[in-house]
Formats: sequence, structure tokens, C-alpha cells
Amino acid sequence: MSAILQLIGPNTAGIFVITTFVGYTAIVGDFLIRYQPDYFCDQCISDNYYWNNRPRVQKACLKLEASGHFRRIRFKCCQCGQTRKVTRLL
Ligand SMILES: [Zn+2]
Repeated sequence: MSAILQLIGPNTAGIFVITTFVGYTAIVGDFLIRYQPDYFCDQCISDNYYWNNRPRVQKACLKLEASGHFRRIRFKCCQCGQTRKVTRLL
């Protein structure tokens, strides 16, 4: 897996920085950008790629959230309708 995703945005100090994601994180980030502004749960993102690997998606979403470009909250998933931890582009 060699996917790379780069996002440019201000950090907490207001300075514009390039954030680079690789592997699962890049693919999940790309997915959430494509389907913004919808919230998706980890399970649905995993199912959409036939990965059968929710823990991997959860790890990717936590990295995306830490970048400051994505928001992760407990809310209704737009795909399965369940209230779970969901992520979307800010
Ligand atoms: Zn879902």
C-alpha cells in the first residue's frame, strides 16, 4: 500500500503547513474528502473498501483528527445510521 495524501492548512499557530498521510490514513482521508461533509463511522469506511479491519480504520481516523484537518465526534453515521464515533473533514 503506497497511497499518499497531502493537505495544506493552518496549524494552531495560524501558519500554513503541508500535512502528509500515507497508507491507510491516506486512503481514509481521501475517502472523507470525497464524501465531505458527511460523517462516517470506522466500520462503514472499512466496509466500503472490503478491508474487514475496523481497528486499522480507527487508527487512521485518530491520525487524521490529530492533524487538525478532520473532526471526530460521537454522532449519527450517514451510511449505517448508528450513533458511533464518526469522522469527517473539518
Ligand atoms: Zn456507519
